[in-house]
Amino acid sequence: MSILIVGTTALDSIKTPTQENPRLLGGSASHAAVAASFFSRVKLVGGVGEDFPKKYIALYRKHGIDLAGLQILPGRTFHWSGEYEINMNNRRTLATELGVIETFQPKLPDHYRGAPFVLLGNIAPALQLSVLDQMKKPKFVVADSMDLWINIALADLLELLKRVDGFVLNDSEAGLLTKEDNLFRALKKIHHLGPKYVIIKKGSHGSILSGPKGMFICPAYPLHTVEDPTGAGDSFVGGLMGYLAGARGSIDANLRRAMVYGSVTASFCCEGFGLNGTTKTKRTDIEKRVKELEKLTRF
Ligand code: AMP
Repeated sequence: MSILIVGTTALDSIKTPTQENPRLLGGSASHAAVAASFFSRVKLVGGVGEDFPKKYIALYRKHGIDLAGLQILPGRTFHWSGEYEINMNNRRTLATELGVIETFQPKLPDHYRGAPFVLLGNIAPALQLSVLDQMKKPKFVVADSMDLWINIALADLLELLKRVDGFVLNDSEAGLLTKEDNLFRALKKIHHLGPKYVIIKKGSHGSILSGPKGMFICPAYPLHTVEDPTGAGDSFVGGLMGYLAGARGSIDANLRRAMVYGSVTASFCCEGFGLNGTTKTKRTDIEKRVKELEKLTRF
């Protein structure tokens, strides 16, 4: 089955303690779309400027991503730059230049509207709602978000949460949204806001799923070297949703395994700058790490 993914399609300038790489392909939708493309057919929704390099369009195409919903708009592409501290966990945003995203209005081509799986990647909640309004009865909708939207667009975000099946956020964002220090009390409060499934990302410490069948604790793949974790969260949710869209059987039967596939896909993202790690990966590499994680967590 196919999956529709909306989010930012960006140019990222990333600085780590050892390297600096300007204007790489990035954005929540780019990372999620490439991750999901290992498992299912992806329909991308986004907006880029006239400065968006043709080689990045070719890269989306190489991954079989449908670009009918990607608008090329007058102006400049969304540009984000960030810098990591020595531990590679703490990140500082240096600049966010919205460019064409400031006025971007998602318009779904007709053949996008029936996609059964929808990933509302990190972008303003008003735009996530606009995509949802254009869909015909999707089977499973998951939204991702970030602290910025909790701080500046809470009303839209709360509206969105009433309309999605699943919500993905990191542990500090769960605290910010619910004013709870305890993660498990926070989870309960987030369910009350609407989503049946809530997934908390904990970076290199894995993730936690809470749903009608209880909880699942998913490990991160143990990496010895992290080149650049930018987009790991988007790759996680892209891999997870792509796996679900490509699998037979019910959501509940597949969700735990989907979390593990998301986790492994994110590990490849961390091994290269921008999308370089993910785009080098093969499906067989993913399967190998999933087996390793299975062995590491069985008891
Ligand atoms: P992550 O490392 O998973 O938090 O995702 C990083 C990606 O998010 C980068 O590729 C950025 O281009 C993108 N990004 C940064 N700021 C924003 C924002 N305000 N809204 C949406 N995407 C963003």
